[in-house]
Amino acid sequence: MKVASIITVGSEIVEGIIVNTNAKFLSERLTEIGVKVKKIIAVDDNLDDIVEAINQVVNISDIVVLSGGLGPTEDDKTREAVATALGRRLVLDEALKDSIRKRLSKYHKYVAANNDRQAMIIDGAKVIANEVGSAPGQMINHDGKVIILLPGPPQELVPMFEKVLNQLKFDQEFTTLSLLFFGIPEAVLDEKIVNFSPDPSIKIATQASYGDGIRVRFTCPKQDRRKIEELATKLVSETKEHFIGFGGMTLEQAVVKTLRENKKTLSVAESCTGGMISSRIINVPGASEVFLGGVVAYDNSVKKNLLKVSDDILERYGAVSEQCVLQMAQGVKRLTNSDIALSVSGIAGPSGGSDEKPVGTVFLCIVGDDHEEIVRLFYPQERNVFRMRVSGYGLYLIWKHLNYMV
Ligand code: ATP
Ligand code: MG
Repeated sequence: MKVASIITVGSEIVEGIIVNTNAKFLSERLTEIGVKVKKIIAVDDNLDDIVEAINQVVNISDIVVLSGGLGPTEDDKTREAVATALGRRLVLDEALKDSIRKRLSKYHKYVAANNDRQAMIIDGAKVIANEVGSAPGQMINHDGKVIILLPGPPQELVPMFEKVLNQLKFDQEFTTLSLLFFGIPEAVLDEKIVNFSPDPSIKIATQASYGDGIRVRFTCPKQDRRKIEELATKLVSETKEHFIGFGGMTLEQAVVKTLRENKKTLSVAESCTGGMISSRIINVPGASEVFLGGVVAYDNSVKKNLLKVSDDILERYGAVSEQCVLQMAQGVKRLTNSDIALSVSGIAGPSGGSDEKPVGTVFLCIVGDDHEEIVRLFYPQERNVFRMRVSGYGLYLIWKHLNYMV
């Protein structure tokens, strides 16, 4: 089994300012393909510290992945540190320098000479193109080991690492199948899996995160792929309307995909989620084909004036009620002329609750041309957790409506 180590470079990480999601992503992906991750080290943007970290892991690893510190400024030390630790020179790659300058001149009138630092390549390294940002990655074969340098921003690191994995073509010993579920408790899913008495060679991992659903991952030796496929099929057949999709599919991706497949348009009226549902949908490429728009109707005056929620409903039942979410959804559907509309109104807290409707109470409504559904939920949690859970459930309602009710 191949062994890997990960070194994440950046003061923001060791100072606790940002969460080290790169370490999580890299170790998760490596583990998935059957590489044993031995060490994860986080270090400051400091030359000596980075060199020391490399020395610490290079002899015990077949693969060393470094993230961060590839920017154009003086405090970006990773290139220099790797060159020092491996005893190699840094050389200027003229072609790379030109392509970086050309790319930057599209966005900026003046391109600083500092940017040429990003074209300094460790002697013998292969450049990993960065299609999102300016910092190229590098990959070096050194004494039978592979050293990989990737930039810090996750949106750049993730696609670049996938490209590296493709190029390296690790002889994968394990195979993985991942499934996303929503609206079903983790314990229930787990019980179902246990009841199938899965083969002991199958490793089962579940990961639940607020508003995103539950991801179940089956891993087994490559030659046993059939066993995890059978297990997945059994689980899907027992969980039907809670099974969202395979692979890395997210809930919002599933929503956009299903809207596109059904050729339906969507609009949303959000109170307590404050635009989070719209934002999650817009994050998905292709959303423009199906998402018309949304109204953040936080204050009652907006519910009344824009969405035409009646005074009578607001006075008799309040803004957090079945009656209000129904009128909100109908209002935004009329306003945008969409095929489907979703609305949300709830009490995020910490104040504003009552005995009948305590903090955490929320109503959601989905309206189609000939179908509507209203749901009451209770998520008595911190405001942002509440918003994430409610937005997740809203997305789930849209998905379920399209798949099971139209
Ligand atoms: P840049 O050209 O953007 O400076 P870089 O390779 O020098 O690229 P860093 O300066 O180390 O990268 O980090 C840039 C940003 O990327 C950080 O401010 C942070 O937002 C994000 N980032 C860096 N390292 C990590 C990490 N380990 N996990 C999550 N995000 C990270
Ligand atoms: Mg930087």
